[in-house]
Amino acid sequence: MIGVAVNGYGTIGKRVADAVTAQPDMELLGVAKTSPNHEAETAVAKGYPLYAAVAERRDLFDEAGIEVAGPVEELVAEADVVVDATPSGIGAENKSLYEAHDTPALYQGGEDADLVDASFNARSNFAEAEGADHVRVVSCNTTGLSRLLAPLQEAYGVEKARVTLVRRGGDPGQTGRGPINDILPNPVTLPSHHGPDVNTIFPDLAIDTLGMKVPATLMHTHSVNVHLSEVPSEADVKRLLADEDRLFLVPPEYDIDGAGKLKEFAMDRGRPRADIWENCVWERSISVEDDDLYLFQAIHQESDVVPENVDAIRAVLGEADREASMARTDEAIGLGF
Ligand code: NAD
Repeated sequence: MIGVAVNGYGTIGKRVADAVTAQPDMELLGVAKTSPNHEAETAVAKGYPLYAAVAERRDLFDEAGIEVAGPVEELVAEADVVVDATPSGIGAENKSLYEAHDTPALYQGGEDADLVDASFNARSNFAEAEGADHVRVVSCNTTGLSRLLAPLQEAYGVEKARVTLVRRGGDPGQTGRGPINDILPNPVTLPSHHGPDVNTIFPDLAIDTLGMKVPATLMHTHSVNVHLSEVPSEADVKRLLADEDRLFLVPPEYDIDGAGKLKEFAMDRGRPRADIWENCVWERSISVEDDDLYLFQAIHQESDVVPENVDAIRAVLGEADREASMARTDEAIGLGF
């Protein structure tokens, strides 16, 4: 069994902890937190050993009556791999902790690419993480774009991708980010950070990205235009994308017109936290005009990186190849509608 530690038990960390627990070849050794909030209570209720991420804050857990298993150093020392899911920039501060215990570490998309040996997307570059000590699972948007561009690149060749990312203003729990009543070009200059981030996975891919922020919390939406080297029919593209397990082609007959109905659909299907691990590509939007492919996809920012973290664990330890790992991850969490 692969012993896994999760440092940072918030939006991403709690989902990764649950996904790790579901894997037949992994054991969650514990989670580390800074605050004795509702998520700490839930970790204890689920039976996850809870460690204090910051020694000076351990008393807060005692005062709240929440049992602490020990300091995070103990958890990191015991683990075969640690998933750092702390807020952007804290992962970089934690790197020396992981190095001191010689424990390979996975970081999230909020960290800089130059912190790590490899940036990771399971579908696109699984093997590049093999044996690496520090790996970054790319952000929700970069994950969504990489999953889509990988099969297009392989099947037809990508001359240039142009993507406008219409981004949710915050996660549902991020009350400090809004509500705003506005539509922001964000950033107003080109490119947004997403294109260069996609290049950490596909170094040679030509891609321009523009970002916007809107007053929504449910999902991001991408308006995608890909100029292809070989021109397929729309039916070809639909078949190609339908074959990808982590892409969900939203069937026209489902009458799903946006993120609200997608989330309702996920709840109806009993998904934990209404999570949607797959890219949601509107089948009806797939259009080929001359040499250009167009489509819309929605990305659930809080969950699409979760199966990627699970695969990255196996990748750094050399425990499985891409196909075996992705299939095991997906079956264990119930990915696929
Ligand atoms: P979050 O704020 O929801 O959770 C972070 C958790 O880490 C919190 O529980 C916080 O208390 C804890 N923490 C703070 N300092 C810590 C420390 N020193 N040691 C241990 N724990 C500490 O953040 P999040 O949204 O889960 O984001 C985590 C990372 O994942 C970031 O890099 C972010 O960019 C990335 N990410 C977030 C999303 C998203 O939609 N939320 C999507 C993809 C990637």
